[in-house]
Amino acid sequence: MSVNTEKNTMNEARLLKKKAIVDERIAAATDERGVTILLTGNGKGKSSSGFGTMARAIGHGQKCAVIQFIKGRKETGEQLFFGHHPLVSFHVMGHGFSWETRNPELEKQAAEQAWELAKTMLADPEIHFILLDEVTYMYKYGHLDVEELLDALASRPIHQNVMMTGRTAPRRLLDTVDTHSKVENERHAFANGVKAQVGIEW
Ligand code: ATP
Ligand code: MG
Repeated sequence: MSVNTEKNTMNEARLLKKKAIVDERIAAATDERGVTILLTGNGKGKSSSGFGTMARAIGHGQKCAVIQFIKGRKETGEQLFFGHHPLVSFHVMGHGFSWETRNPELEKQAAEQAWELAKTMLADPEIHFILLDEVTYMYKYGHLDVEELLDALASRPIHQNVMMTGRTAPRRLLDTVDTHSKVENERHAFANGVKAQVGIEW
């Protein structure tokens, strides 16, 4: 047997072993239920991933809901695109939180109102996918109680998927979600002086 043929055989054996392990894991994953997904970190891609996942759910005819807990001044592409979709219920937290104007009292009031709405969605078995965009800041700033979120997540309809975003999240939430991905900032165009642009930032 040539050296190359021997190497190929060894690689094949390794691949087969890996495949057997993956197959075993796939066979062991038998739970059929909705999941909670949390995206944190300082890199770009958290909210857009949430909306991308929602597009995936809509593609399968699933009823979806979005609550954006923080909004910039501009009307976003996601709101323009999904806001009137028949399968989507789209809410932006009322005047209150934006990066430009900070008024803690108004923010808290607006956060509480948005949370009331989120709770009804989290109890609605018709809604298959919920995106709570930038929700984690509400806990960071003490506007909402994370225990209430945990309770609502724990008692939501079994097939409901919930995605949450924000740069940081309370420990209790990090420890509870089914899936947590951290988007790291390796580089962002802004740091090199590139202006925020329509279709990319909003
Ligand atoms: P996106 O909505 O593009 O998926 P994101 O949700 O991950 O971004 P946020 O922390 O919500 O990011 O910030 C929103 C805005 O800030 C976006 O316009 C994004 O391009 C910008 N941004 C995200 N990360 C960085 C960064 N590391 N430096 C500068 N701007 C950033
Ligand atoms: Mg975001």
